[in-house]
Amino acid sequence: MAERTAPAAVRNRAAGALLGTAAGDALGAGYEFGDPMAADAPVEMRGGGGFQWAPGEWTDDTAMALVIADAAAAGDLRDEAVQDRIAAAWAAWARDATDVGVQTRKVLTDASAAAGGVPTANHLRAAAAELHAGTSRTAGNGSLMRTAPVALAYLGDAEACAEVAFALSSLTHADPEAGEACVLWSLAIRHSVLTGELDARVGLLGLPAAAREKWLKRLNEAEREPATTFRDNGWVVHALQAAWACILQTPVLPYDPDQHLVDALENCVRAGGDTDTVAAIAGGLLGACHGVGAIPQDWADVLHGWPGRSTDDLVHQARELAAASWAEDPDAELFDLPE
Ligand SMILES: [Mg+2]
Repeated sequence: MAERTAPAAVRNRAAGALLGTAAGDALGAGYEFGDPMAADAPVEMRGGGGFQWAPGEWTDDTAMALVIADAAAAGDLRDEAVQDRIAAAWAAWARDATDVGVQTRKVLTDASAAAGGVPTANHLRAAAAELHAGTSRTAGNGSLMRTAPVALAYLGDAEACAEVAFALSSLTHADPEAGEACVLWSLAIRHSVLTGELDARVGLLGLPAAAREKWLKRLNEAEREPATTFRDNGWVVHALQAAWACILQTPVLPYDPDQHLVDALENCVRAGGDTDTVAAIAGGLLGACHGVGAIPQDWADVLHGWPGRSTDDLVHQARELAAASWAEDPDAELFDLPE
């Protein structure tokens, strides 16, 4: 019987997905809420911004993703007890965090109040649903930014990956648009980790049938229009479109394909708006495609953040997740096509 071990290339791309999330997040942190910049404007791993980030310091995007990665190492993310662990860890993080997204902060605060202390996953879902019922505007980008670990935890099972992506989005974002975006992006990251190819359309079959056409149009639009078209990128739909536009429209140099990761992340930042989150979203997929070797050494040297982790920690963590979830089953990559 063959040994059940993820190939080295898969583990390197898994590490790229997690480190790419952190790198995009930290790169964009110093430019958050800025206007679009010229195509040749310099973009640097400089820190700063409204929260005075240190150079290379990641923000809430990566912090919340790492809570999911920790939980995935402890158990199946479909289990209610594992989701309770995520809820408790997010609430504890948010109490002292430098920056928490507006919608996520509201849900975590309300859920903690309802629980009279540490909230469960159910408390979060209830708070998220109540916010949605009251405002009908809960499709922020705050769940899409934390999808990379979901992909890494289900390399051997596409359907579980889609199920968990939607479920973990729903903990803070009741609007199905947010959950659908997370399904699409998690499956795209998963596909890139498994194959080294970029294809956001592989996730369409993971969506409810009624939502596929809508998202296909959005992907097509993102491939045609400049990233600055998607200006409302605090909205999950524009955040995904801006990230996909930068990834697809940034040229891949035949003599240096790895440079695509840096060039595309810089373009995410130049598009303006919620720069750290758009670049974190794009970074997860870019890293999954190009692998951890595409992260420049001078970025890897300085990347760090909550909860006191560095590049080496994230690389190790992602490789372990991939090794545990990978399965040598070519059918596992695909959904069954409808008859
Ligand atoms: Mg952030």
